[in-house]
Amino acid sequence: MNNIFDEFSISKKTQLRAQEAIASCKSAFEEIDRVREHNQLFVLDCFTKERIAPAHFNATYGYGYDDAGRDALARLFARVFKAQRAIVRPQIASGTHALALALTGIAKKGFRFLSASGAPYDTLDEIIGKGENPSPFSLCGLGCEYSELALKGGKIDFELLEKRAAEADVVMLQRSRGYADRPSLTVDVIEQACKTIKRANENAIIFVDNCYGEFVEEREPIEAGADLIVGSLIKNAGGGIAPTGAYIAGRADLIEQIEFRMTAPGIGGEVGSYAGGYLPFFEGLFLAPHVVGEALKGAVFTSSLLSDFEPSPAFGDARGCIIQSLHLKNAENIIAFSQAIQHCSPVDSFVTPVPWAMPGYSDEVIMAAGTFVQGASIELSGDAPIREPFVFYMQGGLVFEQVKLAVMYALDRMEEIL
Ligand SMILES: *Cc1c(COP(=O)(O)O)cnc(C)c1O
Repeated sequence: MNNIFDEFSISKKTQLRAQEAIASCKSAFEEIDRVREHNQLFVLDCFTKERIAPAHFNATYGYGYDDAGRDALARLFARVFKAQRAIVRPQIASGTHALALALTGIAKKGFRFLSASGAPYDTLDEIIGKGENPSPFSLCGLGCEYSELALKGGKIDFELLEKRAAEADVVMLQRSRGYADRPSLTVDVIEQACKTIKRANENAIIFVDNCYGEFVEEREPIEAGADLIVGSLIKNAGGGIAPTGAYIAGRADLIEQIEFRMTAPGIGGEVGSYAGGYLPFFEGLFLAPHVVGEALKGAVFTSSLLSDFEPSPAFGDARGCIIQSLHLKNAENIIAFSQAIQHCSPVDSFVTPVPWAMPGYSDEVIMAAGTFVQGASIELSGDAPIREPFVFYMQGGLVFEQVKLAVMYALDRMEEIL
């Protein structure tokens, strides 16, 4: 039988190292499988309890009054995330859109927002309205105040949080590390933060950006005390199958307010049809725990095989999201790694990514994604700004085997550069 890795021109040396890396991953993979089994069967149980049936997959048109699929999907997400209610809509175009909708939906004039996990994900800057001339639709433009608690050694400053939470109406936490050099928040840490916040101020609304975190652990933030969570369906919760959309889940009173912001006051969540049909959203949620396990195995394998490139999380570290970063040392390696991911992808494998000047970034950026769903980062993807300290971020992978191949291929290409 021919060796498939030879077909992909992977060197014998790298094949051997990959075997060793796989052996080193044994107990980490067993732990991923244990969490995944729990989450998979829990999600299955939620489907049966909601009595999901083929009628829920139907396309709907017009206003979408009594859209059974839309409403069942929302109830299902609420059950999975242990929330009172949820909004799940294909019309929410991205995670950023959902974050903007939820934050401005709960905002009242004079509300004080506090980010407890340092500066949030880049795309939130304009939603918050951090700059000189905030958009009238940003939090600051709407008459809210915003402040940030700097992280202390990459961690939440609990002492300061206890003091500052007393003067906040909304406390924001970001579960994933995003593109920052800090560990992601585990659900245990989120629980500790929620307890600290509520001790200082039982009325504070705790808002968690849950992007990239879903199904990484057995618990989700609402179980740990959060009031609202938000995530994208082209990341973890869509299982690689959802074609678009996002969810918001949490306290019923807050969800109702957000629904009025989403459509119109007085109408709320009663309208909204989807002519594409809801099948991929249901199927995606069902597959999500499995797919997240594949992505996590890919990340753990990467941290083992590429231990020379300062992986973060390092091999053996706890993981709260699916992102893996690597210090690739120079621009050539970043380009080689990106091209390797692209080359080892099922879609657009013939495309060669190159660094380019992207609006909103001060340095050139390179991105690799040969994905079925445009921009879906639950599928194997990676990117980096071309600048010191040459950190490359990768995430996703619908199937572990693809991540394994891409990283082996990347290692060979980087060694050709040396
Ligand atoms: C991806 C991400 C977002 C924004 O999501 P988009 O769908 O890309 O708009 C927000 N916060 C975090 C932590 C993310 O990882």
